[in-house]
This record gives sequence, C-alpha cells and structure tokens, in this order.
Amino acid sequence: MTDVSGVYPADAPASQALFDRASAVTPGGVNSPVRAFRAVGGTPRFMVRGEGPYLFDADGRQYVDLVCSWGPMILGHAHPAVLEAVRAATGCGFSFGTPTEGEVALAEEIVSRVAPVEQLRLVSSGTEATMSAIRLARGFTGRTKIVKFAGCYHGHVDSLLAAAGSGVATFALPDTPGVTGAAAADTIVLPYNDPDALKQIFEVDGAEIAAVITEAAAGNMGVVPPSREFEAALRDLTRLHGALLISDEVMTGFRVSRSGWQGLSESGPEPDLLTFGKVMGGGFPAAAFGGRADVMAYLAPAGPVYQAGTLSGNPVATAAGLATLQNCTDEVYSHLLETSGKLAYAVRDALNAEGVPHTIQFAGSMFSVFFTELSAVTNYDEARQQDLPAFAGFFHSMLSQGVYLPPSAFESWFVSAAHDDAALDRIVTALPAAAKAAAKAGRMGQ
Ligand SMILES: *Cc1c(COP(=O)(O)O)cnc(C)c1O
Repeated sequence: MTDVSGVYPADAPASQALFDRASAVTPGGVNSPVRAFRAVGGTPRFMVRGEGPYLFDADGRQYVDLVCSWGPMILGHAHPAVLEAVRAATGCGFSFGTPTEGEVALAEEIVSRVAPVEQLRLVSSGTEATMSAIRLARGFTGRTKIVKFAGCYHGHVDSLLAAAGSGVATFALPDTPGVTGAAAADTIVLPYNDPDALKQIFEVDGAEIAAVITEAAAGNMGVVPPSREFEAALRDLTRLHGALLISDEVMTGFRVSRSGWQGLSESGPEPDLLTFGKVMGGGFPAAAFGGRADVMAYLAPAGPVYQAGTLSGNPVATAAGLATLQNCTDEVYSHLLETSGKLAYAVRDALNAEGVPHTIQFAGSMFSVFFTELSAVTNYDEARQQDLPAFAGFFHSMLSQGVYLPPSAFESWFVSAAHDDAALDRIVTALPAAAKAAAKAGRMGQ
C-alpha cells in the first residue's frame, strides 16, 4: 500500500531489511557508492517503482524525485512513449551482436543536434565513453599526458580518478588504491576555472599533452559553470599546442538544451571530442563519444585505435534513448528551466528565512545548493567549504517529508518534464521545516 500522508518515520524497515541482505552479498550494500547514504547517514531507500516525478520505496512511501537517476530520467519515470519504444524493441529480441538500424538512427539524431559531432561511436556507460575518448586522443596525437580539473568526474577511469568530485569527495578519499602510479602519472590535475594555471602547464608540458578533458559545465562538485575566460583558454591553448579538447557532456548532454552545453554556450569552445551518456540512454545503458571526423577515423575498424563492446548499441537501449531524445521538445526544455528556477528560488527563500548561509548555482536547468558562506563557488576547493551537517539535516527533513534529494552535498539536483505543480507544491511545502533542520544541524546551530 502506498503511504502519501504527511511525515514519514526516520526508520524504513523494508529498505533496512533489503539493505541488510544487500550488505551480505555486495560491498557496502550498493552497486554505486553514492547510493549508500554514507554522507548523510541513515538507511538507503530501496525503490520499487517510478512514475512521472515520483518514486515509491519498499516501505510503500512516495517521494518527489529530484535525482532522476542522476540525470537520465528527463521525461520523468516510465514515460509512455519511451515505454512503448522499449516494448516494441524487446518484442523483436534483445541483442544480436550485429549492426541494427536503431544505432544509426540514434547516432543521426545526436549528429544533427550537436554541431561539432561529425561521427559517433556508441558505448554502454559514460565511463566507457571518456576512457575511449582518452585512448583515441592519445592514439591520434601520439602523446601521453592528459589534463583534467579538480572536482570534475569523468567516470571511474583509472587515469581520471584523481580529484574526481562527488563520489570521492563524499568519501574523503584523496585518491583510490588500485590505480597505479603509472596510470596517475600521466594525469595533470588543475583547478577548474583557472585559465592561468592552464596556460602555465601548457608552457611547461605543451608538447606532451594529448588532451584536456573537462566537464562542459561541472556538475559533480555541485553545479559550477565555466567562466568565459576559462572556456576561451581551453579552446585557444589546446589548439595552439596541438592537444585535443574533450568536452564531457555525459551529464549536461541533452539535459541543459537539445544540444547540451554546446547549445547554451554559443560563444564557448568547439571541442574536438565530446562524450555523452545519461539522458541519451533514457534510463538504459547507452553512452557515446564523438567529434571531428578525422579524429574518429582513427578508431577501429576504420583506424588503428581499438575499441569495442558486446552490448554497444544495444537495440533496447538505443530505442529508449531515441524515444527520449525525440520527446525532448522545446517545451520540455523551457519547462525544465522554469521548474528548476521556481524550485531554486523557493529553496533560497526558505533558507534565508532561517538564516542558513547558502549559494545556488545553475548550468541551464541543472542547479545545486551549496551550504556555504561564499557568494559564488568557482572550483573544487570552494565547493568543499560547505557546511555538510547542515546539508545532512536538510536532506533528512526533506526525505521524511517525501522529497528525494541527492544524498550528497556535491551533486546537481535534477527535475523532469513530469515535475508538475503538484510535485512542486509538495517540495515547497517541505522546505520550511527542512530549512529549520539545516539551521539546527549546521555550524550555526552548534
Ligand atoms: C555520470 C558521469 C560520467 C560517468 O558515467 P557512467 O555512466 O556513470 O559511467 C562521466 N562524466 C560525467 C560528467 C558524469 O556526470
């Protein structure tokens, strides 16, 4: 039975029982670390169903979902058109290990939306996309070094797991055991939004740098958009020194506009390679990397750089992805912007009413709330100056009132086309108590 009444108890017996079972057979009880609630404490909720803007957990409780599977569910859960496409695809079989038309249609859709993408290779996860893009960049340039920015997450690729934002920030792991010195040695980590640091490193190491990889707009340290100067430096310096610019749009791609961050930042850099995931799979494992045709021509079987995947371009995943993109109309994008704006301002008002210091930042319709005294957050060091107990208090109050926020202070919040006035009202109603809880749990309340 579904319980949509008032305030839920802090314990969640059915989720706890599942978590106990999970913890016996899975490290930490989860298949991806941030799901475990370690940053906020308490029992991770096991979800059993999603519908529109709502999730339903094993205890029969309903939540307005502001995680949206960490971005992919841009149309809301179980969208009828996507469901129909998936049903039609599964009715024809699940995977053939041969080319299929659906892969071509999805690639054509992406090429038609994102100007710098001339050719595209489909993979199954964002991690695979960035890993393959890095390999391709090294193969194409014949160089070894990669520049990344602190707080940017590009999946759990060995060479990119240095200063990698949310998951790592949440667990306070400065680095991860299991990544060899050799894998990390060719990675240079610089502060985000710092054109001078980029200039200096190119002056020293320019001839050895294969690629600079950046989140198009950072979302994995909370939302930190790039400055114009930073974007200009990314483009100019990579071009000047013969390195490739890889724009990681796994999170921003097809979420912040129909052509991702590329579509929002028209004066921004035209990258050589881009990576996609999340929205383009519509909730199924589909991701991609693509860009300049002369670079993509280095990829096997056209060229010498090897890359492959048994389930790459899976027919069910490509059908879900294509149906999702086709239903991401201009109205959907304006709805997302309007909804995230309303929500952010309601959060601001509630936190202001309780005197809780905070800053809200946007990248298109992605936004996050930093519990900080800083008036703006421009890089990872600043993102880390947050009042984490205040966030935890806020999170648990919202959860108990039926609002599912990302269980970490270093994440973007996501809305969907299905977040209607009723869902919004539910969130807004929960905010005053959550702001009080933040004030009480935070530094100011101690
Ligand atoms: C989520 C994410 C990835 C990793 O994608 P997975 O599908 O989780 O492997 C890479 N880059 C960015 C910017 C992301 O947000």
